[in-house]
Amino acid sequence: MISITLFGASGRMGRAIAEAATGRSDVGIVAEGGDVFVDFSAPDALQGHLDAALAAGKPILIGTTGLGAAHRRAIDAAAERIAVIQAANTSLGVNLLSHLVREAAARLSEDWDIEIVEMHHRMKVDAPSGTALMLGRAAAEGRGVDLDAAADRGRDGITGAREAGRIGFAALRGGSVAGDHQVIFAAEGERLELGHRAESRAIFARGAIAGALWLHGKPAGRYAMADVLGL
Ligand code: NAD
Repeated sequence: MISITLFGASGRMGRAIAEAATGRSDVGIVAEGGDVFVDFSAPDALQGHLDAALAAGKPILIGTTGLGAAHRRAIDAAAERIAVIQAANTSLGVNLLSHLVREAAARLSEDWDIEIVEMHHRMKVDAPSGTALMLGRAAAEGRGVDLDAAADRGRDGITGAREAGRIGFAALRGGSVAGDHQVIFAAEGERLELGHRAESRAIFARGAIAGALWLHGKPAGRYAMADVLGL
């Protein structure tokens, strides 16, 4: 049994993680001093949560989205001393989608435009979603575009993705949608569409718990959900 300390415990994701952990024998939620820290809160709170994990010498999974270049640098610095997973989306399906998008982008010529459309509930703060940016990054990597070189020019290299990879983003907000993402490859006369629909936050919660279990006992370093899921 490992214990998880949750940052953002009273939020939508925090409550979903607590619910997903209920009744499990391998994981429990504790108010402080857990074996692994899990953060689903807000970008402003990231540094404080990294500092808490560093002070305790415990690994941390960061699910918070809307992070910028300065946040990424802080995560890189923390990962020199503790194990860190930063994942804009912790679901198995989306991480597999990301893999498929990278493969498709690598095989299709630049005659194919890439457009990423996402829809979320009306309360979501950041747009495009962290997952849309993650998919854009995967598409850009497939095309051989170095987004890190452009990372300081926009959040998560979005400007770089738009300019260098010619990848477009559209964000819709409304109702209670947990998270829909569609990646459209469009050429003259044909379209290829890859997508994922999250029906509830439970899928992110289960993935976050899988990530926390995987992180326990791992050496310092920066990891991804792809490592957890063996993709
Ligand atoms: P929410 O608004 O329901 O909850 C946010 C929580 O963070 C609350 O408990 C709030 O008290 C806390 N919080 C906010 N600002 C804070 C601050 N400055 N300091 C300390 N605590 C603070 O949001 P949510 O829907 O639970 O989403 C939380 C984050 O997780 C968002 O960034 C969201 O995009 C992201 N998210 C990630 C995934 C994923 O799979 N990685 C899935 C869904 C949501």
